[in-house]
Amino acid sequence: MATLFAKVETVLGMEVHAELLTQSKMFCGCSTQFGAPPNSQCCPVCLGLPGSLPVPNRAAVEHVLRTALALNCRINWRSIFHRKNYFYPDLPKAYQISQYDVPIGVDGYLDVRLDGEVKRIRIRRVHLEEDTGKLFHIEAATSFVDYNRSGVPLMEVVSEPDIYSAEEARAYLRALRLVLVWIGASDGKMEQGSLRCEPNISIRPAGTTELGTKVELKNLNSFQSVYQGVAYEVERQTQALARGEELVQETRRWDEERLITAPMRTKEYAHDYRYFPEPDLVPLEFDAPWIERLRAGLPELPEARYARYVRDYGLSEYEASLLIERDQPQVSDFFDAALRAYGGDPKRVSNWMQSDFLRLFNAAGEDWPAVKVRPEHLAAMLKLQDKGQISGKIAKEVFEVMWTTGKPPEQIVQERGLQVIGTEEDLAPIIDQVLAQHPAVVESIRKGEEGKFNFLVGQVMRATRGKADPGLVNRMLRERIAG
Ligand SMILES: [Zn+2]
Repeated sequence: MATLFAKVETVLGMEVHAELLTQSKMFCGCSTQFGAPPNSQCCPVCLGLPGSLPVPNRAAVEHVLRTALALNCRINWRSIFHRKNYFYPDLPKAYQISQYDVPIGVDGYLDVRLDGEVKRIRIRRVHLEEDTGKLFHIEAATSFVDYNRSGVPLMEVVSEPDIYSAEEARAYLRALRLVLVWIGASDGKMEQGSLRCEPNISIRPAGTTELGTKVELKNLNSFQSVYQGVAYEVERQTQALARGEELVQETRRWDEERLITAPMRTKEYAHDYRYFPEPDLVPLEFDAPWIERLRAGLPELPEARYARYVRDYGLSEYEASLLIERDQPQVSDFFDAALRAYGGDPKRVSNWMQSDFLRLFNAAGEDWPAVKVRPEHLAAMLKLQDKGQISGKIAKEVFEVMWTTGKPPEQIVQERGLQVIGTEEDLAPIIDQVLAQHPAVVESIRKGEEGKFNFLVGQVMRATRGKADPGLVNRMLRERIAG
């Protein structure tokens, strides 16, 4: 068996469905709000009643265009909708409006980082369709259907079979999800079903190029289930071939509880769906100004930003990923803005971001709108520290107050009397008092017990509540002890 394992390789393509972040549905004005009472967000269009006519949602079209641009796709200037015909209780029209041979975006790629290496995964297509309703199987022979999801704008991103392991599949999904969340096309909430993944998995003898029999895993909705489902399926197929069984092209589901895949149905082929151009909709036609406006509105994407931090700022891969790999691009926007305002060592800004900023941000539930501290205030605080006006210990206190109040650091230092005691005049009485309180310590330092010196420094820092300049304290103590 072991020898056989060594002789096969895994080939995967991924289909990812993302519900798009729009207020209203794809072809009608119904709300897309998640969690409303069943069947409360429906109308004749999304229920497929006779005589109703669809009108495309411009925001949804633009989300798909932006995604296609972010994934380096070529845009089809004239793109059309097709009907995909099949009967299912969650599909009241008995067809889904989708795209077939002229999708909005084609031939792109996504760079995915795994174990420090970047792998380019080609994107075959990005297209727009509508979601189906949702079935609830309550008990044997009883199902309910909720049409609130029926007609919600849905985007499908299909990769080429460029993925070769469960780890790569998971890394691809993470990278794609981050792009979709950053550009605002999707909320990426896999647990709510707004991002779902369907890997097509096949194995083949190592070194050959023809694809093996494809098995599609349906509706995986977490990174873990993608990883586990793919790993399971690779092993199942490998063992089946070892036993001399023939694999069938089929759709299987992942059983989260038993951690196995189980057959759902034999896989349909395109001709099963009797695709034909949607007669109720005119083609989508794009022009260069429209596309260029959308392209110009895209943020700097996660992978580009990551590369910039490592290459230009000398951040470690770990430091860069802490700033980038989160659903709020605002965190790295903040870092960039603070660094611009500070103008000093990027590592210093990054250290504050990673320690105090992210600790407080995570503790507050990663709620970006609630963040009060401003990037220019972090920069100003670092400058106060550089000029020796506050100590490192005080800076931590100032940052916490900036975090809770949004006040600028100068004001906080002023109001709380946190300035460093920086003049010899101010420090002299305090130092003299500490020396007077510890004559025995002074005596032993004079006899060469150098280890006790830091005790005196500590006493002065305590007496000044951390506001003394440690360098000055050292010098003044030395002078007096020597004197
Ligand atoms: Zn509707």
